[in-house]
Amino acid sequence: MTPKLIKEEKLRNFINGKWAAPSSEKYADVVNPANLATLVQVPLSSMQDVEKATSAAKKAQKDWALVPAPQRAEILFRVGVLMKEKKETLSQLLTMENGKVIEEARGEVQEGIDMAFYMAGEGRRLFGQTTPSELKDKFAMSVRAPVGVVGIITPWNFPIAIATWKSFPAIVAGNAVVWKPATETPIMAFELAKIFEEAGLPEGVINVVFGSGSTVGEAMIEQDDIRVISFTGSNEVGRTIAGKCGQRLKKVSLEMGGKNAVIVMDDADLTLAVEGILWSAYGTSGQRCTACSRVMVHESVKEQLEDRLQNEIAKLTIGNGLDESIKVGPIINKNGLEKIKSYIQVGKEEGAKLLSGGHVLKDGNHAKGNYFAPTLFTDVTPDMRIAQEEIFGPVVSLIPVKSLEEAIEINNSVEYGLSSSIFTRDVNQVFAAQRDLDTGIVYVNAGTTGAEIHLPFGGTKGTGNGHRDSGVAALDVFTEWKAVYVDFSGKLQRAQIDVE
Ligand code: NDP
Repeated sequence: MTPKLIKEEKLRNFINGKWAAPSSEKYADVVNPANLATLVQVPLSSMQDVEKATSAAKKAQKDWALVPAPQRAEILFRVGVLMKEKKETLSQLLTMENGKVIEEARGEVQEGIDMAFYMAGEGRRLFGQTTPSELKDKFAMSVRAPVGVVGIITPWNFPIAIATWKSFPAIVAGNAVVWKPATETPIMAFELAKIFEEAGLPEGVINVVFGSGSTVGEAMIEQDDIRVISFTGSNEVGRTIAGKCGQRLKKVSLEMGGKNAVIVMDDADLTLAVEGILWSAYGTSGQRCTACSRVMVHESVKEQLEDRLQNEIAKLTIGNGLDESIKVGPIINKNGLEKIKSYIQVGKEEGAKLLSGGHVLKDGNHAKGNYFAPTLFTDVTPDMRIAQEEIFGPVVSLIPVKSLEEAIEINNSVEYGLSSSIFTRDVNQVFAAQRDLDTGIVYVNAGTTGAEIHLPFGGTKGTGNGHRDSGVAALDVFTEWKAVYVDFSGKLQRAQIDVE
């Protein structure tokens, strides 16, 4: 247990403003991936808890929607202030439950704080449009209306940031929320619920139900009163959720995997490119949806890049992320380790050349946790599975190319379309690349990670289904457009007929 940072031995659900044990009375251990110590126990809730949360949300939402948006936003602003006050504690807890190094944990918590202040500002915008009517003495406008109760299902890799991307716009727009966090990382959700409570969010506006995806997640989809499901996670689960929501005509927003690539052209600043690749490939141990897992390198700089990357990889410190000197933390769990290991075998069998890493770390303190050596393959061809499938670990494939056109074609050849990047000093190549790379996010002279919360986040093809998290675009997920016509002519005017 972690007495200094979290008092509870067992977390509780947060339903209708009250802290409650799960009706199943079942729990699972939450384990620190850095040393396999048990941190706390998480409820394994049942359908009954989801039903209670949904009916609390439904009841609360009616009044919440009538609170003026600027007042709703003030509560979000307080949430941001409280998160700021608690930033260091939240960051340490995040490192303990997820494993990411403390510097990155602080960055993730900061993302949540930024989102709170940004969405608090939306309380005084939530812009609709006014537009001329085709008829005399008639006024036309569109306004955003809340959808009602929204369901949020979040993953373990960004347990607080992704939750804020979804819950903050939902709340400021006048919805109530039922939120199922990942069972691997419930502590951030527990802490965020406490912050909502302290900030004065009315009871029932946010409800947190812990438990497995197959029980709690599926129960949420079955609730008719939950009108939207916003999900981030694996492609496989996302597709299942989309199918079930489709049958029920439930709106669904999906943000799923990536097979993100960095392009290094022959005129690139190689020092910068190496830094960008290391940060986006091995940060969060490669377990970001935007993690760089392919590098298309111009053949004329391939050997230089290989040498430089190998040298820098050898310097990476791997261990418990609470130690400020550590650069790469553990993998979330044994399943994750096994999945990464299996892809190393696949890469070798496919004929890729292993330059660095490629194994589980078992020496010294590494034996106590889930550690995988940062890995670099070269001479990878675009059709190999390691160049096509999401590995979700610290594994990079170098693919030699002869031209920008070839690099772009390879980038676009995968199932996913989340993030891509190009290192070059040639402005013509920059603009051609940003136009032709088929991804929702494009970086120039930076790695594939580093999204800012006021821009839309999401991807094309198998990465999503056309929706975006964060930015103003997030409001589209949690609102319905309502068209309002006000006729002040005193007579019946028929659109398309009584037009002069
Ligand atoms: P999942 O997609 O299984 O989990 C994401 C969330 O969905 C969790 O809260 C999970 O709950 C929930 N969930 C699982 N099954 C269902 C279901 N049938 N109905 C509703 N909700 C469900 O991802 P994993 O954690 O298992 O990771 C597996 C792989 O997914 C990774 O290796 C990676 O490739 C990818 N992934 C991608 C992410 C991204 O950011 N794009 C994030 C996380 C994973 P619970 O876990 O509590 O059961």
